[in-house]
Amino acid sequence: APQSYDVVVVGSGGAGLAAAIQACDEGAKVLVVEKMSTIGGNTIKASVGMNAAETRFQKLKGIEDSKELFYQESLKGGQFKNNKVLLREFVERAPQAVEWLAEHDIELSDITITGGMSIDRTHRPADRSAVGGFLISGLVKNLNKRNIDVMLDTSVTQIRYEQGAVQGVELLNDENEVLTINAKSVIVATGGFSANRDMVVKYRPELDGFVTTNHKGATGGGIAILQNIGADTVDMGEIQIHPTVEQTTSYLISEAIRGGGAILVNQAGKRFFNEMETRDKVSAQIIAQPEKYAYVVFDEQIRLNNKAADEYIARGFVISAESPRELANKLEMDFHAFLATLETYNVAVDKQHDAEFGRTTAMRHPINQGPFYAIRIAPGVHHTMGGVTINTETCVLDSQQQALNGAFAAGEVVGGIHGGNRIGGNAVADIIIFGILAGRNAARFSMK
Ligand code: ADP
Repeated sequence: APQSYDVVVVGSGGAGLAAAIQACDEGAKVLVVEKMSTIGGNTIKASVGMNAAETRFQKLKGIEDSKELFYQESLKGGQFKNNKVLLREFVERAPQAVEWLAEHDIELSDITITGGMSIDRTHRPADRSAVGGFLISGLVKNLNKRNIDVMLDTSVTQIRYEQGAVQGVELLNDENEVLTINAKSVIVATGGFSANRDMVVKYRPELDGFVTTNHKGATGGGIAILQNIGADTVDMGEIQIHPTVEQTTSYLISEAIRGGGAILVNQAGKRFFNEMETRDKVSAQIIAQPEKYAYVVFDEQIRLNNKAADEYIARGFVISAESPRELANKLEMDFHAFLATLETYNVAVDKQHDAEFGRTTAMRHPINQGPFYAIRIAPGVHHTMGGVTINTETCVLDSQQQALNGAFAAGEVVGGIHGGNRIGGNAVADIIIFGILAGRNAARFSMK
């Protein structure tokens, strides 16, 4: 006889794990199915942090913020294409989600900023390390504490939807066995499709040849599984390229470095844009440079403010030098131009007025304390804003806006929240906020 669960969670990234933990705490019997051999999905690679406004941690640091401003800036960053109802829900629930994590011993108490935001609202671990690994290890501890069943190396191939409701799922494991699971509800948390080149190019032909920052499992299979039972999709062509990716390894250079005060310099040794603009705009400007790449430039003080910088040094991405002149020489850049760039920028920091490019945030320090560092970067495919449609209760919707009974979705598999461009720090917020909600609602749906 097939095994029975109340809730099957498909995918073990941040959305899936938050959902599984919450569903378990509602009293449901939960199974997590993950097609890869490890837990964590693309979430484990998340770098910068989790955005939220009006949080306890902001108050502790004396940061004044408002949900309304967070909403407006996310909408503007999304080119006003966002689903406004979902975005409102997102902003409203964000501070509770930060508290939910803290209650689960995953405290994001340090705060930085990302492009397109005017206020420090990107929550990250106290030691300023990358958020993804910290988040996944904390969620896994909670999963283990609850003895939640997990199947690795196993894909959900199909949702069984009969008599107008979810009945369970079909699985395929790495021994090519097909298994059937009975469950009244399923939470699809399978992430995006940035690593599915055919799918990316289908919607955006001009992105052919771009590297991706995503893990191999980001192939968008969850979208097809839901479409097969009638789910609608939205914004499938909205695909984000992240401006700062190390090209030989496809490794993401976190926005937190710019949020800590770094600048972007082209091969001519010049700044060319406001580094704290949104990812779509910064990417477009890098591609517009003659060499189609640029350098993230920072100094010792900025390095000390960001743990990831040491990771980049250890991985060999960073060119370092004792003086700006030596750095320019190593980069084969006109050092007069580079020195002038630093001088002009440092005056802008001093005056907190960037006359050249209008940068207004994260001009935290002058770049004047050696050693000096540079990483060569160019854009890469990073996030798929499109996906299946849901309502504010995370129920998956068909093309008539009707909920598919027992089908829930959360995380990057969902479309609409981020519109035409996702703000850095809004993906981690998205997966936790809607992961918790999906877990709660799926559990209640199954057990009613
Ligand atoms: P999110 O950020 O939305 O939580 P992630 O990319 O972190 O998304 O995690 C999604 C996870 O779902 C990945 O680990 C991926 O391997 C897994 N996954 C994708 N499709 C399937 C599937 N059909 N069956 C099981 N797991 C899947």
